[in-house]
Amino acid sequence: MIEDIERASRSELRDLQSERLRQTVRHAYENVPRYREKLEEADVSPDDVETIDDVRELPFTTKADFRAEYPDGLFAVDDEEIRRIHASSGTTGKPKIVAYTADDLEVWNEVMARSMRAAGIDSSDTVQNAYGYGLFTGGLGFHGGAEALGANVVPTSSGNTQRQIELARDLGSDAISCTPSYALYLAETAEEMGVDPRELPISTVLYGAETCTEPMREEIETRLDATGIENYGLSELIGPGVAVECHEAQDGLHIWEDHFYPEVIDPETGEPLPGGEEGELVLTSLSKEALPVLRYRTGDVTTLTYEECACGRTMARMDGVTGRADDLLIVRGVNLYPSQIEDVVLEFDAVEPQYRIDLYREGTLDRMELTVELDEAFDGDRDELREDVLARLESALSFTPDELEFVEYGSIERTEVGKVKRVYDHR
Ligand SMILES: [Zn+2]
Repeated sequence: MIEDIERASRSELRDLQSERLRQTVRHAYENVPRYREKLEEADVSPDDVETIDDVRELPFTTKADFRAEYPDGLFAVDDEEIRRIHASSGTTGKPKIVAYTADDLEVWNEVMARSMRAAGIDSSDTVQNAYGYGLFTGGLGFHGGAEALGANVVPTSSGNTQRQIELARDLGSDAISCTPSYALYLAETAEEMGVDPRELPISTVLYGAETCTEPMREEIETRLDATGIENYGLSELIGPGVAVECHEAQDGLHIWEDHFYPEVIDPETGEPLPGGEEGELVLTSLSKEALPVLRYRTGDVTTLTYEECACGRTMARMDGVTGRADDLLIVRGVNLYPSQIEDVVLEFDAVEPQYRIDLYREGTLDRMELTVELDEAFDGDRDELREDVLARLESALSFTPDELEFVEYGSIERTEVGKVKRVYDHR
């Protein structure tokens, strides 16, 4: 089932976005001192905002704004209106604290339910939610969406993988929501338990929270004999539920544009880029009450397309995120995302989708060691394989690691809880 708004004409959608942008800017201006200052500095008054195109006149919001206003300086409502708090997992410094009113929570459940329907899940399904419950938005975000959809939700949270597998089998879980690396770990653990992961009832994997390359998706789909659906979101905007792939096309993630307005900008100049060009994703919330967000610089690199999708939805689609600005590695002056290396390495059948990147500095020189797991069945020549992989990296990325090491299947540590760590920067 597709809601009417999901296939509204672009002009209908624009009218709704324009109206909501006017409300959002006024709400932010009147209730958040930092937004008022920033808007005044940019010489924009709420009265200047007429259509959604005026979004370009607004100043950006960045992680630094969240840091400076920690914990609640960006909240736009009184404490008594707040129903829930979440926090983003900051790897460094203080987390970003985010808040929801009752209406915000309702919108969140609605966009998550819509996302699950787009993924092909319906009210007759059982959804096993293996995202961590707690301050992280993944757990309660998927939970609320599954309930709003009328599905049966099994709140296993993350970890305890053997039990996850037993429950999936015994309860007939049709879908599982988790990170992509955890989906693979689940398949491996099942094999170790003597359970064929393809025989599990799971037919959909709702993954997100980490970048997932196309070869990684194929691994997940093959190993679990399931459809892999990418979800995108971030706590600063709402949590998961900003964008999702439709199961009909699996060709880009539909952004729920009635609530989150997307732009792609040149990260250097801040200038908006036309559809089809790669840049940094910037999002503006259009209905948030507790924490309105104007032009948030996500740090995520993607492209937008406005072509109608085979599924009939008219909302813009974004490519799967190729990299987060935070993940960007600068090695010997070359800019690289770990996902680009993953993309190349996983072209080889002889290797497993498990790798780690170690970065060192020797004197003034950067040094990269890439460690990749071999397929269990591999009995070929490692030196030949090394040469092939290095040649492929050189031709695809004009970059080769200083050292490429192959290790036996199972030697690289798996992550059972939280996000996978692939890069170890010792510099
Ligand atoms: Zn679609």
